[in-house]
Amino acid sequence: MIGISNYAEFDKYHAYDGDDLGATYFADRTVFKTWSPYATGVYLNLYLDGEGPNLIETVPMELMSRGVWVVELMYHAEDIFYTYTYEFDNRKRFETIDIYAHACGINGKRGYLTDMKRTDPAGWDETPRPVCKSPCDAVVYECHVRDFSIDPSCGAAFEDRGHFTAFAKEGTRYHNVTTCLDHLKELGITHVQLLPVYDYATVDESKPFKAQYNWGYDPLNYNCLEGSYSSDAYDPCARIREFKQLIQALHKNGIGVIMDVVYNHTYFTEESSFEKAFPRYYHRLNRDGSFSNGSGCGNETASEHAMYRKFMIDSLKFLATEYKLDGFRFDLMGLHDIETVNLIRDELNKLDPPLLMYGEGWTGGESPMPSDKLAYKWNSYSFGRVGLFNDNIRDAIKGGTFNPYDIGYISGNRNAWSVLRRGLAGSVQHWQLHGANEACWALSPAQAVNYIEAHDNHTLWDKLSICAKHFSREERVRMDKLGAALFILAQGMPFIQLGQDFLRSKPRIPKEGEPVNEVTVVDHNSYNSPDSTNSIKWNEKFENIDVFNYYKALIRLRRNNPLFRLRTKEDVERHMYFFDTGDCNYIAYRLENEYDCLIVVFNPYIEERRFLLPEGKFYVRLNDQGKMNKFPIGGDVTIPPISATVFKKIRKQAE
Ligand code: CA
Repeated sequence: MIGISNYAEFDKYHAYDGDDLGATYFADRTVFKTWSPYATGVYLNLYLDGEGPNLIETVPMELMSRGVWVVELMYHAEDIFYTYTYEFDNRKRFETIDIYAHACGINGKRGYLTDMKRTDPAGWDETPRPVCKSPCDAVVYECHVRDFSIDPSCGAAFEDRGHFTAFAKEGTRYHNVTTCLDHLKELGITHVQLLPVYDYATVDESKPFKAQYNWGYDPLNYNCLEGSYSSDAYDPCARIREFKQLIQALHKNGIGVIMDVVYNHTYFTEESSFEKAFPRYYHRLNRDGSFSNGSGCGNETASEHAMYRKFMIDSLKFLATEYKLDGFRFDLMGLHDIETVNLIRDELNKLDPPLLMYGEGWTGGESPMPSDKLAYKWNSYSFGRVGLFNDNIRDAIKGGTFNPYDIGYISGNRNAWSVLRRGLAGSVQHWQLHGANEACWALSPAQAVNYIEAHDNHTLWDKLSICAKHFSREERVRMDKLGAALFILAQGMPFIQLGQDFLRSKPRIPKEGEPVNEVTVVDHNSYNSPDSTNSIKWNEKFENIDVFNYYKALIRLRRNNPLFRLRTKEDVERHMYFFDTGDCNYIAYRLENEYDCLIVVFNPYIEERRFLLPEGKFYVRLNDQGKMNKFPIGGDVTIPPISATVFKKIRKQAE
């Protein structure tokens, strides 16, 4: 139907740069604008409700310059639902929600008109965003809204379970251990990163009690919120107000909120609102005109086209300011072009304080875009102000993600140390480190998002149950804790999955006829698995409280000492020194500045090892239990099996 041979040329004549797409309110009127340069007609449809046959009226829109269609209603449109109908070739008509809609009705079919101010909870304007000066100061905790509180063990009231509101309630417990918000506070993380909370497609919001689940990587409306997380998905304001309550509660406790954004593909491709508004513009196409599939989800969006780039930037600015967000995590960021990624960074830097920004430096399939133009991890220096998930440190610590039997440093791999050392040094160049160049890709430690567990793939504990099954439970717990020490104390920004700190598992019931073994009883891709697999069972925190206390101690140590949060490559080279232990796999290093001297030793062996401390007196700042022991020691010391120890130098009284 529509053929554009050169999009850059097309954009030169047709792209619109006004900041008024969508619905704009004035005192006595409401103005609607939408961009569709090849449409032969566009109509605004007004409805009483979010679904069903309750049309109020259809109003034709007028074509202004640069493909923008406009209509003015001579009143302040409030509590009304709306859609657009785009007409092409004077015959084909597509009705769809406005891609710029800020609120929507049930299941995101129609936009909703309201003054967003009305959705602010009491005290909203007075609750500031917490200050985070550098990504290196952040400790990010990845949570799925439903997983967090759907299990009765969370202790939240029935009406809060699985909803935004569970994040805003204090005082919940399982027996004597904290859960939900109190748990976040006790753990000491600085940011919560929520799996998608924008309006996604695959959970039917009209059936809140039906057994359904999704991570939410199936975007429907980027500027609207998911209805199934609200107390009433039919009330367009409920989800907005309750999400703001979540943010406000976390902000009051000094915790920032990071939104997971999935601009890289649309869920419905041909039937998506973008395709209906302007076919064959917002997605990338193959040479034969078919949709390319760099996301692995049926299509990929075209961030290099002016109006999709603008959409992304407008959307992020809206979300950041309306919801006072503290950062964004970009799904399959490798599909976005570098120029767009840097423009977004510029915009997010203008906000005060600047927002965190990081993403996945890979794609889900092959893209027709030239690979040197895309925000792939191997182009990292071209967007050095944006963080990237560090799959090098991840796989070095726990073993290859895609082979469950593959072992890592913590589970006995003796060849992971060179990649691991790179990761410990913030993935930046360090004068002592050579080789493993693929693991030395960051412009500064702030670019390295260090992790060993996320929503994708096995949890660390499940991975260990497979690749280290011949070890005792106690030994596997030690491996888990050693893994935690490695990535939490590494230079960069640590990222933890909800429940990782108390040995989260994703149990699975093997299908009929399937063999029952260590691989089939756990779930490595639980995106639509039931609550029984995905939910947090808070009794596991009660049972594994020693592991939780260890994570807590690591986070505290990191946050209390700037030597674990070095900002630049130069700082890392100056303050971090690796010792020669006579065994490359036995890693020990010193972090030192004018105020402090710390020695960090990692023993991956199942036997204890000796370590010769440098001259001077030290004490154990963090032992394998996460405890401190102020008794002065020096010289030859013992490092327990499969563990990390941090020593702190005792300064002379005179100093
Ligand atoms: Ca939805």
